[in-house]
Order: sequence, then structure tokens, then C-alpha cells
Amino acid sequence: MPETPIATTGRVAVVTGAGRGIGAAVAARLAADGHAVAVIDLREQDTEQTVDAIRAAGGEALGVGADVSDAAAVEQAVSRIAAELGAPTILVNNAGILRDNLLFKMSETDWDAVMGVHLRGAFLMSREVQAHQVKEEWGRIINLSSTSALGNRGQANYAAAKAGIQGFTKTLAIELGRYNVTVNAIAPGFIQTDMTRATAERVGVPFEDFVAHAAKEIPVRRAGNPEDIAAAASFFAREEASFVSGQVLYVAGGPKA
Ligand code: NAP
Repeated sequence: MPETPIATTGRVAVVTGAGRGIGAAVAARLAADGHAVAVIDLREQDTEQTVDAIRAAGGEALGVGADVSDAAAVEQAVSRIAAELGAPTILVNNAGILRDNLLFKMSETDWDAVMGVHLRGAFLMSREVQAHQVKEEWGRIINLSSTSALGNRGQANYAAAKAGIQGFTKTLAIELGRYNVTVNAIAPGFIQTDMTRATAERVGVPFEDFVAHAAKEIPVRRAGNPEDIAAAASFFAREEASFVSGQVLYVAGGPKA
């Protein structure tokens, strides 16, 4: 007989880059699911809007300023979260930046910056949080990849980082499975956030036209929104998703892979 799924119990979740965009929606969704949520962004003041929205909806949230690519800042942030909210056992590695350029114009600084936030950031945060997950013998790590992992013109750095995230996810799933920790990745397609707005600006197209053009190419004929990604994160964080690990879920309005 299969076990009856256990109801979602309140845990402590950490969402990086949650001051806006996808991270803010994921933080709000996990709070609505009953978890206390630590909202990390570069500066603590950037977390205020997300934290206020969660509290206004009756949830529990803590804003923490930290650069996820800085090991000392990550260590400090996670120990503060553990002290103020309790042991963090759900981690969403969402913080991200773009430094797009064609290869021949891509600087080393732009290469390193993208690797630093996406890959080093996910590594440092996961290393810090897994100590709590292993101790609690329960955990969820959810990493943000992208359809760009499959290749995208002008994004050699970002595509490499997002493909790297997929290998990182599968390896952590193998290492941490014995502690009841699942590790999965979400690979969004086109999602309307400040990140895609910045891309539209860079290529000199009004955002509305950029979105409309993208929607035409997407099988479900619309661009994604942050809540589409939050729904996938909510699934991976649930108790009954405990047998799903090492997976990459493309949330792109169609089969991108
Ligand atoms: P966004 O609107 O640009 O938000 C990213 C957030 O990450 C910002 O709040 C940013 O802070 C924060 N951040 C950047 N560097 C950081 C660092 N070193 N430490 C802590 N926080 C940092 O981006 P988004 O569109 O929501 O994207 C979220 C994630 O989804 C990213 O990993 C992105 O690559 C991925 N993704 C997005 C799309 C899309 O279409 N939007 C598609 C596929 C994948 P500041 O505000 O201070 O810069």
C-alpha cells in the first residue's frame, strides 16, 4: 500500500535573489504554503517589498542582505536565518544576473560575474544549508536553470552557467539523497521580469513588443510569469515530492528540450 501523503508542514525556506521577479513570487508562494521564508537579496532594503507582502498576507518572513557569491556573507546570512527563523531546510537558488554579449565581445569580467552569481552562489548557499538539512534529515534544494542551458546566442556565459546548474543539481541529488534531501532544477523559458525587460532594452525593442514576439514562438501562446515558476517550486518543496530528485523541469509553455 502506498503511504498516504503527509500534509505540508511548516519549514524554514531560503530564497535567494527574492527582492523581485521570480524569487519574490517563489518566496510568496512558499510562505502561502506555510513555510517561514528568509528573503535574500544583495541589500537588505531590497527585500522589504517581498517581506512586507508576505507579512501582509499573514506569513512569516525575514529579509537578509547578502551577496551569494561571497562565502563569508553566505555563512553569516545562513547562521542569522538559523538563529532567527530556525534551521533552514528548503533552499531555492534563484539569484541571477545577465551579462550578455557575443563571444568575441565578452569580457572576462562578464564571464566571471555570471559564473560567480549562478554557479559559485548556488554552490556556497547549498554547502551552507546542507549542514542543516543533513542534521534534520530532510531537505529540498531547488535550483534555477534556464532554457538557455540548451544554447542561446549572446549568452555563452549564462548558458554555460545554467547548464552547469543542471550537473550540479544531479550530483547533489546523488550525494544528499540518503539524508532525505531532494535536489531539482527548474528551467524557465521566457518569463516577464526585470531581467527580460533589460534584455528588451538592450536590443532596443519596447518590452510589450518583445513579450508579444516571444509569445508567438511559445506553444501555449503566452509569455510566462513568475507565478508559473513559483508553482513548480512549490511542487518540488512538498512532502509528497520526496521521490522526485535530480530532475530538470522545463517550465516554458512547451517542450524546449
Ligand atoms: P531579476 O528580476 O533580475 O531578479 C534577480 C534577483 O537576483 C534580483 O533581485 C537581484 O538583485 C538578485 N541578485 C543578483 N545578484 C545577486 C547576488 N550576487 N546575491 C544576491 N542576490 C542577487 O531576475 P528573474 O528574471 O527574476 O530571474 C530569477 C532567476 O531565474 C535567475 O536565476 C534567472 O537566471 C532565472 N531565469 C529567468 C528567466 C526569465 O525569463 N526571467 C528565464 C530563465 C531563467 P538586484 O536587484 O540587486 O540586482
